[in-house]
Amino acid sequence: MKVDSIETWGINAKRPVIIAGPCSAESEEQVMETAKGLKELGVQIFRAGIWKPRTRPNSFEGVGFEGLAWLKRVKKEYGMLTATEVACQKHVNEALKMGVDILWIGARTTVNPFAVQEIANELKGVDIPVLIKNPINPDLELWIGAFERIAGAGITKLGAIHRGFSSFEKIKYRNAPQWQMAIELHRRIPELPIICDPSHMAGKREYVQELAQKSLDLGANGLIIESHCNPDVALSDSKQQFTPKDLGEILNSLVVRERGTNNADYKEVMSELRAKIDVLDEMLLDTLSKRMDVCREMGKTKKENNVQVFQSHRWDQILTDKLARGAEKGLSNELIEKTFKAIHQESINIQTEIVNS
Ligand code: PEP
Ligand code: MN
Repeated sequence: MKVDSIETWGINAKRPVIIAGPCSAESEEQVMETAKGLKELGVQIFRAGIWKPRTRPNSFEGVGFEGLAWLKRVKKEYGMLTATEVACQKHVNEALKMGVDILWIGARTTVNPFAVQEIANELKGVDIPVLIKNPINPDLELWIGAFERIAGAGITKLGAIHRGFSSFEKIKYRNAPQWQMAIELHRRIPELPIICDPSHMAGKREYVQELAQKSLDLGANGLIIESHCNPDVALSDSKQQFTPKDLGEILNSLVVRERGTNNADYKEVMSELRAKIDVLDEMLLDTLSKRMDVCREMGKTKKENNVQVFQSHRWDQILTDKLARGAEKGLSNELIEKTFKAIHQESINIQTEIVNS
């Protein structure tokens, strides 16, 4: 996949690139007033949803075609690039006709290969940046598949938007960040810029700053944040939008750390620490390997005695004990749960194979 850097998008691409604007374009006044405030903050890319994918019918579904003229005005009067969401051939066609500069594919569209392919077909021969939001479910292959479809149309100005994932469990955020998904996407396609959408992750204003900072700490290239001149009366996502003034405060509070440094002291200390980590990781691997050897012995013993592999009370006991012991050692419940669930699953797999051999 050929991916051009953000520098080719026609903006001053210093990190982080900021894309801001309302969830939805609602009226010409709302669009122009919000854009004015954002221009004053130095925002270079203005976002606004023209067609809105809503969870339930009978809510505001966007102003449609007429709003594209407002974006054109933003571009003309404030010199900002404009960006909007497209979900089908018609959206692409109309957005391109009206001079929208950057398109994004929403989370509900990324999940649908038919829709993504339809968009790709309409983009053949067009040179425009296309950002693809993660699918609502944490399926990295589906996300990468969408990049491959759009890249297949000849688009090289590609970027990912990490907006978090739906989850059945009640969590603090509207969408679970699952940072490892962005980290893994970066490992698989290192040249692809990743822009974080802390607004849709958070769902509430109060959490946007911490998520934005975390994404920068992990190396995000940019942020897409919702901003509305009067958030409380916004027709969509009112709880997560900031006035341009409040957004300015958030942006000022963010710390952008260097990707690396040539400082000799830093390099020396880091190489010592990394050497320690390597030794500890080797010990972890040895321990895991020894533990699985014991699991094999257990599998054989269960087989000889015709006893089922999974013993629920024993698993309960292990997990409870490890959570308590882990806490004493300053290890989070999340780490202990994930680690021991994975170890236990592997142990069950090994034993199942043995009792059935
Ligand atoms: C949006 O950006 O307003 C939007 C609808 O986002 P998502 O596709 O992430 O839900
Ligand atoms: Mn929104």
